[in-house]
Amino acid sequence: MKKKLIRFFRFFLINLIIIVSLSMSISLITPIDSYLQILEDKPLNSQPFLNTTLADEFNSSFAYNNIETQLSFGDRIPGSNGSFDCAKNISSEMQKYGESALYNFSINGFQCNNIISRINPNKSQIVIFASHYDSRAVAEKDPNSSLRSEPIDGANDGGSGVAVMMEMARVIAEAKINWNVSFWFVFFDAEDQGESRGISGINGWDWCEGSEWMVEEMENQPNIYFREGQSLDTIHSFILFDMVGGTNLKFIRESHSNDDLTDEVFKIGNSLGYEVNFPLNGATRTYIDDHVPFAQKGIPTLDLIIEFDNLNCGWPYHHTSGDTIENISEESLEITGRTALQYVYETFDPTLGFIEKFSSKETFFSNPYVIGTGILIIGVGIAIVIKSTFFKKY
Ligand SMILES: [Zn+2]
Repeated sequence: MKKKLIRFFRFFLINLIIIVSLSMSISLITPIDSYLQILEDKPLNSQPFLNTTLADEFNSSFAYNNIETQLSFGDRIPGSNGSFDCAKNISSEMQKYGESALYNFSINGFQCNNIISRINPNKSQIVIFASHYDSRAVAEKDPNSSLRSEPIDGANDGGSGVAVMMEMARVIAEAKINWNVSFWFVFFDAEDQGESRGISGINGWDWCEGSEWMVEEMENQPNIYFREGQSLDTIHSFILFDMVGGTNLKFIRESHSNDDLTDEVFKIGNSLGYEVNFPLNGATRTYIDDHVPFAQKGIPTLDLIIEFDNLNCGWPYHHTSGDTIENISEESLEITGRTALQYVYETFDPTLGFIEKFSSKETFFSNPYVIGTGILIIGVGIAIVIKSTFFKKY
């Protein structure tokens, strides 16, 4: 009887450990909806300053017109004339608000250019806003198969993020506030040419080539990027805008992004009345995007992006011929721009000095895939040790 009981106990314990570790690792590895988070109320990290709010200065028709300007250069495929003309236009417009330069690099012989524009460039603490400006060379998801090898307009996928950032830069510069941070506006080339459904934008290219290259350069040649007192460690936060101007805007929580920064910006969106667009307990997804190389260096990042791979997300035109100006919503541009400017307004109070960084960082060991696999291995290991140590007599 005693033997039977011990056998049952052994069977039960080992299975329990394996099931618990399996389910913990699966829940971490499965990105979709599996670790939704209910956000707790947390005070914003500083008081608003001055009597005006930056958010009210955001002009959504300027942003909309800016997308039309980008599209007027034609396709912005890396290495093309359209791309170079668009890059020069972005940079010269941004010079009205601060300083701006093209940073060129080449991939497989194609000349590419990131654009970095700075307002208040000498302050040691840095906040980065970013988007990609290249447009995808193929519409591999188009419902009409004859269009799948044609380029997309990229009004939303590319154009919208650039437009919101350029209008934000205008507002930040014209506010003439004695900012205590440097603002960087980074426009990446070569984000959108990787392989999807067996079709590459440009053969042999990966996603996010421009951001990967920039982070590598920042490490290897910091003096090209940083002024005195600046380094990767003084980057306060990095916010990426990707597909922020489509109809029916609804952002998801992206799991490479910093939780605290995500909470903060989503709460600000809610406080402005955009509960539908920044749902506090919406879906969580895992996307490779231009913020990932920065997150991997421990920089708090946020990818403002929609659930583009779900046809029911309200904007079903990802990598199709439907990514046109007709499917852009001026209101979505406004919602994004006002929320981001309110974040600036509430976070970078010039009276506060050095601003505390968001705490949690993504490193190799905090990646959900790595944690999940680790838990599984440890769980199975414990089960094996218990089995062989305590139950070998039976
Ligand atoms: Zn894309």
